[in-house]
Amino acid sequence: MSRPRLAETYADLRDGVEAFARTVVAPVAAEHDEAHSFPYDVVARMGSAGYFGLPFPEDVGGQGGDYFALCLAIEELARVDSSVAITLEAAVSLGAMPLHRFGTAQQRARWLPALTSGEALGAFGLTEPGSGSDASGLRTTAVRDGDAWVINGSKAFITNSGTAITAFVLVAAVTGRTPDGRPEVSTILVPSGTPGFSVSPPYSKVGWNASDTHGLSFDDCRVPLDHLVGEEGRGYAQFLQILDEGRIAIAALAVGLAQGCLDESLQYASTRQAFGRAIGDNQAIAFKLADMEVRAHTARLAYHDAAARMLAGEPFKHEAAVAKLYASEAAVDNARQATQIHGGYGFMNEYPVARMWRDSKVLEIGEGTSEVQRMLIARSLGL
Ligand SMILES: Cc1cc2nc3c(=O)[nH]c(=O)nc-3n(C[C@H](O)[C@H](O)[C@H](O)COP(=O)(O)OP(=O)(O)OC[C@H]3O[C@@H](n4cnc5c(N)ncnc54)[C@H](O)[C@@H]3O)c2cc1C
Repeated sequence: MSRPRLAETYADLRDGVEAFARTVVAPVAAEHDEAHSFPYDVVARMGSAGYFGLPFPEDVGGQGGDYFALCLAIEELARVDSSVAITLEAAVSLGAMPLHRFGTAQQRARWLPALTSGEALGAFGLTEPGSGSDASGLRTTAVRDGDAWVINGSKAFITNSGTAITAFVLVAAVTGRTPDGRPEVSTILVPSGTPGFSVSPPYSKVGWNASDTHGLSFDDCRVPLDHLVGEEGRGYAQFLQILDEGRIAIAALAVGLAQGCLDESLQYASTRQAFGRAIGDNQAIAFKLADMEVRAHTARLAYHDAAARMLAGEPFKHEAAVAKLYASEAAVDNARQATQIHGGYGFMNEYPVARMWRDSKVLEIGEGTSEVQRMLIARSLGL
């Protein structure tokens, strides 16, 4: 395995999370996947370890680190369990980060300490049953009525929205119209348990089985006016910024899965015997492993570059889309090859690669499909 050089603090963090993933996450990953159960114990231990606070300042309970540190942690977790990795990714990058970036001082003080400690989770509700890639088609509305917003509509596929520790969902809603009739979107924080806010039963998914995903509905749901997050009507701009960053984190998650597939396959190929020798002694298998390493390594460099640009305050939209696209496709390819190398055992859930194969596909869909990434990349090429 080839790893890019890291400054000592990042390397220490990565090594610490690698050990945590191996000793705390991996032993229960298959069990939670099979039971479709949310790993509360693991999440609590991740909270104690400070992972939910990685990119936030200390005054809101964070670790004073940065977004790259978060990505390194996500990558190491995803080497053994994508469900746990996406739980962290969505909680930090989609749940807490919008409040940190756009919230008022009161909102940050009220909500962030519980989020950065992992005691509570926030969710991000943009996608709707009728609109995903085309977020301009969202139909949920929020109308001012006295001292409240009244929200009506529904959301689909929302991560971390229905756990026992979910504190709120950030709802993207149409709050007005521009003079030429286009919808103006705002972000409104709806606390869990608010009357009129209901959470549907969990989806039956192909993968990410231990991650919490629900449809949500809002039926004359009233929240105080001060639950608006950021400027009224600026919701799209906020989402675009959050999703650009989120793509780097999803790329890191995909790299972790691609690497996990390689870890498992290397071990298996050196022990599984066929025709009197280890299957890895056949060039056909060795070349698959070499290609898996190239994909994981290249994808890792791509997300490191996007994160470095972001932290330097440079434009990074193009690099984030490249990293997300390449890494998610690398993860799917590596998962397919890992299953192949494991033969029949690769199709059995008792082997981690079977779970990794099921977990890989959604990486080409969530936080912008591969087609959407190609649209962004083509646009940045002037097309
Ligand atoms: C497990 C899971 C968790 C998720 N978590 C969240 C969450 O926490 N919050 C949230 O808001 N959303 C979440 N999502 C939603 C996710 O972001 C959307 O599913 C994704 O953006 C795609 O939207 P869609 O499903 O509506 O597909 P559609 O937009 O309907 O797309 C269907 C297909 O058409 C293609 N397509 C669409 N437009 C074009 C075009 N112009 N050119 C070419 N091809 C096109 C797409 O690429 C795709 O292949 C989650 C999804 C999943 C599966």
